[in-house]
Amino acid sequence: MALKTLEDALVEGLEDLVSAESQIAEVLPKMATKATNKELKTAFRDHLKQTKEHSKRLKQAFKLMGKKPQSKTCEAAKGLVEEGKSIIEEDAEPDVMDAMLINAAQKVEHYEIASYGTLCTWAKLLGLKEVHAVLAETLNEEEQTDKNLTKLAKKSINKNAINKV
Ligand code: FE
Ligand code: FE
Repeated sequence: MALKTLEDALVEGLEDLVSAESQIAEVLPKMATKATNKELKTAFRDHLKQTKEHSKRLKQAFKLMGKKPQSKTCEAAKGLVEEGKSIIEEDAEPDVMDAMLINAAQKVEHYEIASYGTLCTWAKLLGLKEVHAVLAETLNEEEQTDKNLTKLAKKSINKNAINKV
């Protein structure tokens, strides 16, 4: 079907995110297991819980628009998740691994921030207030997660990873 309106683009964006969120929910437990730093492990586990809520909110957004929830393979998430998985497989010092896991996770968060940011803008423009509210809630959590990961990296993980031989 041809996409005729911004509303059609919004629906396609939601479908992309359904796929992205489910792929992310699949890799986060692996990242939590691989992380050594306790706070980082907790951050990944907490974000897994949030990610499951994000999937629910997407379904809610479809419902609010009178559409059937669908998934369209998110190729970007596929690439980012594959990258994350290959990092997990690498032979690295625990602190170095943690620093790399943060990097991989932030790439994912930035993809989500860009996606939810755009869809929030579109929903607002289309006057879809409730859809906007639902998406903005998730956007806020993605932004907080990104900030928290930066904080953890700066606090000790990056420094601990320096000069590992
Ligand atoms: Fe998410
Ligand atoms: Fe996220």
